[in-house]
Amino acid sequence: MATKVVLLVSIFLAFGANQVCAAESKGGYRLAQAEKNKAANESGIFQGKARIAAEENFSNAEPVGTSSDKAMVTDIRFLTTGTYTRVMMDLSQAVRYESHRLPADASKNLPPRIYVDIFGARLAMNSKESILIDDGLLRQVRVGQFSQDVVRVVLDMTSTRNHDAFLLPDPYRLVIDIQGQAPAEVLAPAAKNKPVPVVTAKEKPSPTVGIRKIVLDPGHGGKDPGAIGVGGIAEKDIVLSIAKKLAKKLQKEMGIHVVLTRKDDSFIPLEDRTAIANAEKADLFVSLHMNASPNADARGIETYYLDKTTDEAAMRLAARENATSRKNVSDLQFILSDMVQSMNLEESISLAYRLQASLVDGMSKRMEDVRDLGVKKALFYVLVGARMASVLVEMSFITNKSEGRAMSQENYQDAMVEALYEGIQRYAQATIAAKTL
Ligand SMILES: [Zn+2]
Repeated sequence: MATKVVLLVSIFLAFGANQVCAAESKGGYRLAQAEKNKAANESGIFQGKARIAAEENFSNAEPVGTSSDKAMVTDIRFLTTGTYTRVMMDLSQAVRYESHRLPADASKNLPPRIYVDIFGARLAMNSKESILIDDGLLRQVRVGQFSQDVVRVVLDMTSTRNHDAFLLPDPYRLVIDIQGQAPAEVLAPAAKNKPVPVVTAKEKPSPTVGIRKIVLDPGHGGKDPGAIGVGGIAEKDIVLSIAKKLAKKLQKEMGIHVVLTRKDDSFIPLEDRTAIANAEKADLFVSLHMNASPNADARGIETYYLDKTTDEAAMRLAARENATSRKNVSDLQFILSDMVQSMNLEESISLAYRLQASLVDGMSKRMEDVRDLGVKKALFYVLVGARMASVLVEMSFITNKSEGRAMSQENYQDAMVEALYEGIQRYAQATIAAKTL
């Protein structure tokens, strides 16, 4: 039985100054977003907002009172493909939780289960139904008030699977990732109905297809504009424009299947973005951002991979991109240490260096005084749990007069797209070279 215990008692007292997710709008936009997320739906990914059961075994203990110090479990969402499922629980505050795995119990006709106990919590949801998922991996999710102050979430599985559970703040959400089959087993079926050639583990990659699929993540969106720059330009608009151009180029010139986490000005929670990349079984995940600083002279390009850091500037940046406080970033990186130790750390670092070099080279041909701020590491929530090489690029400073103005112009955006493309191509070529050694 795998047991994971995480204590998060007093470290989340400070809320971030710029919370991006107002509780009252949660249900609406998430449902709307699931409908709008055509890229994900086209690929057979099913996103849903859960209907919850006060399951028989659980509901002896009715929650008492309305106010309180207790954490409210307000919503459950999931995203699934049948080979990967992410279940996300929305919480009103920090919680202590434990997750366990149980084998099947034939005598009670119970399948293998993963269950999570959320302590000091109350179920604050309307529906009384179980959430049927039936994706080949997960049968259903049941939630109930297990005791006066424990909410239990049970995931009925089709077979025993590994899982990861972690908590993110601002707003608080508990995320459970269920691992599917090994990539080699699932690539072939996933290729059905796909126009793009897919490389299975048994085939040799063709010279042009070292990378099969990329998820590009234009940062922010909707009610979260990201950083605001000179003349009121918003980070969310620049990164979306660049992501769309880059997607087109990668598809056309490298035959890579590209999925965007958003195609329009919509708000997508950070954990959903990683979930899309995992569900798509992407080979690369690239999150695109523009940097910002109170110092108007700050300029340059930097590329990040996910790891712990003690660098103050990197922690401040991560806090801004995570829409949380610097203290949360600092505390969480140690609590999340097993998640932060990305299983693709080497690949992520390699991708980061190639992109950074390509961006600095490429933009230096077009702009004066392009500064190479280097490859760095920090705790970006959007990269936590990603199961592929993943990086976050700060393409330049939106708050710098010359960089901000340049990046709102088509020709400079095109130069940035070209440089990003080159970096991805160099990484792809190096990956093929390594595989054919
Ligand atoms: Zn950003």
